[in-house]
Amino acid sequence: MAGLLLDHIYKVYSSGVQAVTDFTLDIQDKEFIVFVGPSGCGKSTTLRMIAGLEEITDGDLVIDGRKVNLIQPKDRDIAMVFQNYALYPHMTVYDNMAFGLKLRKLPRAEIDARVKEAARILGLESYLQRKPKALSGGQRQRVALGRAIVREPKVFLLDEPLSNLDAKLRAQMRTEITKLHHRLATTFIYVTHDQVEAMTMGTRIVVMKDGFIQQVDAPQKLYDYPANVFVAGFIGTPQMNFFDATLTGTKENVYVEFEGQKILVNKATVDRIINLEDYLNTGKPIVFGVRPEDFHDEEDFIAKNDKSVIKVKVDVLEKLGAESLLYCVFDTSEDVEEDGTMKSLVDNATQLIAKIDARSKTQAHTVIDLSIDMNHVHMFDKETELSILEGEGTKAYVPVVELERQAQREAERLAQEEAKAQKLAAKEAAKAARLAAKQAKLQPQEEPTEEEKTEE
Ligand code: ADP
Repeated sequence: MAGLLLDHIYKVYSSGVQAVTDFTLDIQDKEFIVFVGPSGCGKSTTLRMIAGLEEITDGDLVIDGRKVNLIQPKDRDIAMVFQNYALYPHMTVYDNMAFGLKLRKLPRAEIDARVKEAARILGLESYLQRKPKALSGGQRQRVALGRAIVREPKVFLLDEPLSNLDAKLRAQMRTEITKLHHRLATTFIYVTHDQVEAMTMGTRIVVMKDGFIQQVDAPQKLYDYPANVFVAGFIGTPQMNFFDATLTGTKENVYVEFEGQKILVNKATVDRIINLEDYLNTGKPIVFGVRPEDFHDEEDFIAKNDKSVIKVKVDVLEKLGAESLLYCVFDTSEDVEEDGTMKSLVDNATQLIAKIDARSKTQAHTVIDLSIDMNHVHMFDKETELSILEGEGTKAYVPVVELERQAQREAERLAQEEAKAQKLAAKEAAKAARLAAKQAKLQPQEEPTEEEKTEE
């Protein structure tokens, strides 16, 4: 059992690739932490640094109060489970699990007890004498987990352990690993690119992109209060709809305008907008985000929320059984051009996806009203892509280097503005001087005074 502290961790590979930048995270004992993000964002590198398989370029890694940067992997009290579980094919399940302990020269009785206990936890008791080739994919993955369990580590590291399994097995193993975490009551750190795995398993999720942490939060908080456009788009399927928008109206009645639509923002959301005056009627662009499930086509919802209704045309309707997806466009004109030809489908690129009740009567190729649940909309600054809505204490996670970069960008912008202003002022001064010279030429020369004459 252990807590971990990753304190401003950096990884630069010898090739020059900066894989991880300023990774800071305090992991409590018994947490189930998930690192999630697209391929190449630095998840595995971070995990491998914790395991000791990869050198830490800068920063401190502390396990249970002890700095372990230079401690050998085998002495870190951690166990790692990989995507390729690589069992020894000639050994039985029992021997596969016992092998590491034998190498460590543990007493035979101790090994036996640990292997049997792991087999019991994983439901492998009746397979102990089988060879890996006589096991299903899920069973093999369980043996790989068993090999980690018998070591009784303080921390479990799992690197995409389920990605080789088919969808059904993956869903099953997901719950098994969650149960295993409860049973073992140890710290788990799990890497995946699959946001569904992250949402269903993690007590906290670390969303990464390009080596930077984007946000660290509990699954529901990530969904409800994404700190930036990237997190908003990454968590949730189908992904959140994003619209370029502006805010208009008065402080009492704030409207969001996008795609020729104008809808009223409810008071609760207006109250959460940080620095409203920066955006209200200034034309400063925002990104307006609406999750597909927050569009409604039910009559009573529309009647109750008539200030946030938009008109769209349903291009394609996908029935998924439990729900339906509407692929919509904002252009509600007829499909037929003025000259009688059909509009090309290319013009009809989907602009909005709505997830509605499967029992809805809505049909494809019709113009419909959709009302937006304004309590759950999202707003981001278009330039910084950070959320401009306060979210119950959730703050955008901006790494120190990113803050420094922002400050640098701001300083550069100010310097540029200053230089521009100086150039303009110099230009104005030169113009004024030219004008003055011209006027001086035009003016009749005054006769020198008597005094000037004597001076000469
Ligand atoms: P993820 O696990 O999120 O897919 P990785 O941690 O594997 O990402 O990789 C992060 C970045 O580091 C990528 O750009 C990848 O190409 C690079 N990288 C990974 N391993 C090495 C290595 N051994 N040498 C050089 N670059 C590497």
